[in-house]
Amino acid sequence: MAVRVSWAQLYEEINACQKCRLCQTRNNVVPGEGDPHATLMFIGEGPGQDEDRQGRPFVGRSGELLTRMIHAIGLERSEVYICNIVKCRPPQNRNPESDEAAACLGYLRAQVALVRPRVVVLLGKVACQYTIRDQVFITRDHGRWYEQKGVWFMPTYHPSYLLRDPAKKREAWEDFQKVRAKLSELADAPEEA
Ligand code: URA
Ligand code: SF4
Repeated sequence: MAVRVSWAQLYEEINACQKCRLCQTRNNVVPGEGDPHATLMFIGEGPGQDEDRQGRPFVGRSGELLTRMIHAIGLERSEVYICNIVKCRPPQNRNPESDEAAACLGYLRAQVALVRPRVVVLLGKVACQYTIRDQVFITRDHGRWYEQKGVWFMPTYHPSYLLRDPAKKREAWEDFQKVRAKLSELADAPEEA
């Protein structure tokens, strides 16, 4: 996809956005953060309460778990890019409505176009639903690669789900090991032009 905006323009636009009703209840917009040219990108669902307070993605309890999982594959948060489907908190942490996701998706597309990640980890069903396809069942589809135009997408459990059902952590760790393996495989292969 052609990049039409710079990071500065994009963040400015996201921070001022009023394209959907979520702008009325947010405290802070949570555009995303990390290495602007990361090889690995994480996409969550939407900001929760802590993220809405701080304007940063994945800084609450599920963020702590995500951070540990990033460390477990030998990376720092500053070496990856982290963002969400919607940039403003849905009230009571409900799932984003499809019109809200649709209003916001242009920003995510621009982020992907600017970062140009080679591997994207999709955290939970909502992240999958608005990126790779409608009908994803995480318990069935996690850990399976979806390749689109040379970018490798890996659905896995959302960290907040893992906090509610810690028994699933083992499967999530396995997914992350596949991500680590893919990154080293790609590091050995030259990027297509
Ligand atoms: N859950 C998400 O999906 N995203 C965040 O940024 C925090 C919690
Ligand atoms: Fe704009 Fe996205 Fe926030 Fe809606 S959720 S107001 S589209 S930034």
